[in-house]
Amino acid sequence: MPKIAIVGAGFSGLGLCYHLLQRGYQVTLFDPKGIGGGTSGIASGLLHPYPGASARLSWKGHEALKEAELLIEKAGLALGREVARREGILHLAISEKKKEAFLQRAKTQDDVEWWDAETCHERVRGAHFCPGIFIRSGQTVHPKLYLQGLWEVCQKQGAQLEKQKVDVATLTGFDQVVIAAGSGIRKMKECENLNVKFNKGQLLACTKPSYFNPGFSLVGKGYLAMSEDEDRCYLGSTYEHEFVTEQPCLGHATEKIFSQVGQFLPSFGAFEVRECLSGMRVANRKTYHPIVGKLRDRVWVLTAMGSRGLLYHGLMGKILAGAMEADDPLFIPEELRL
Ligand SMILES: Cc1cc2nc3c(=O)[nH]c(=O)nc-3n(C[C@H](O)[C@H](O)[C@H](O)COP(=O)(O)OP(=O)(O)OC[C@H]3O[C@@H](n4cnc5c(N)ncnc54)[C@H](O)[C@@H]3O)c2cc1C
Repeated sequence: MPKIAIVGAGFSGLGLCYHLLQRGYQVTLFDPKGIGGGTSGIASGLLHPYPGASARLSWKGHEALKEAELLIEKAGLALGREVARREGILHLAISEKKKEAFLQRAKTQDDVEWWDAETCHERVRGAHFCPGIFIRSGQTVHPKLYLQGLWEVCQKQGAQLEKQKVDVATLTGFDQVVIAAGSGIRKMKECENLNVKFNKGQLLACTKPSYFNPGFSLVGKGYLAMSEDEDRCYLGSTYEHEFVTEQPCLGHATEKIFSQVGQFLPSFGAFEVRECLSGMRVANRKTYHPIVGKLRDRVWVLTAMGSRGLLYHGLMGKILAGAMEADDPLFIPEELRL
């Protein structure tokens, strides 16, 4: 049975691990922070195929969503509890430009409903009076819980976890190695030529007022993501291309996030900030697509999930596992290749 080492146990590493196990591989994950200890563990959990200001359908958005849903369902079954809220996501149209784009989206996509301003106002107490689209297929995943469940699924199929930081050159006992190390790739010489950029993201874990309970998450400029705890939510997020530290900076995060969230939720003052969380995103410099490919003999990479790690991790894992089995990078769609 071929032995595979995966460096990194976030969405990318675990999504791939699952698909390699289905193909009969023996998989060992390496991560000093354990399962979901990196950026994936602090993600807000928004999962839908229409990200961005004009809510355009992502490349292979519905296919990717289906693959992610499959893993989420398996993780939930393994834990015997829900690891996501499947109540949809409301994206408010806070500008005229957004309204036009959203009306179009509602006309052309079956899983998108147009909600007029009265409906939005009725459904979300304390929100700005504006229309929006309700993305029925959207869900809010609880990333730590989800990854714990997915790890249980993988573990039952024989996957192992080594809690250590590794250098690819030392992983000699494996037939193939995959780098799924998130922003850890900055320190890896194998990845120095990848066309990627990095940005810091912060979010605020808040206690919400008891009257505020729409059930679903809200996106406007910034967002409010529901959490697994009834009285908590996350307000996010920042996109910082320049920063002095990767650690959370409460003052800066609060200023940025409140100014965004205030544009669709003027009642944000009723939310009490409990904690500030931060993580690093890795994004493709050219497009919004992840990067999947073979770096050299035995060594593959899966990176640049940007803000779409949840959407893409299942599909990318499936694609890469197929390419590894065939030992042919041409199995990877051109849009994703190095
Ligand atoms: C504030 C914020 C909010 C976000 N919200 C969302 C959201 O709502 N929805 C969404 O889809 N995406 C969201 N994202 C983006 C999402 O978190 C990323 O796309 C995703 O986490 C990338 O997953 P990954 O597995 O590639 O990287 P990571 O989760 O960073 O995993 C990489 C792992 O590799 C490990 N590692 C690094 N170097 C080494 C080494 N040398 N040896 C061993 N292990 C190593 C690290 O410890 C880490 O655990 C958000 C990001 C941020 C910052």
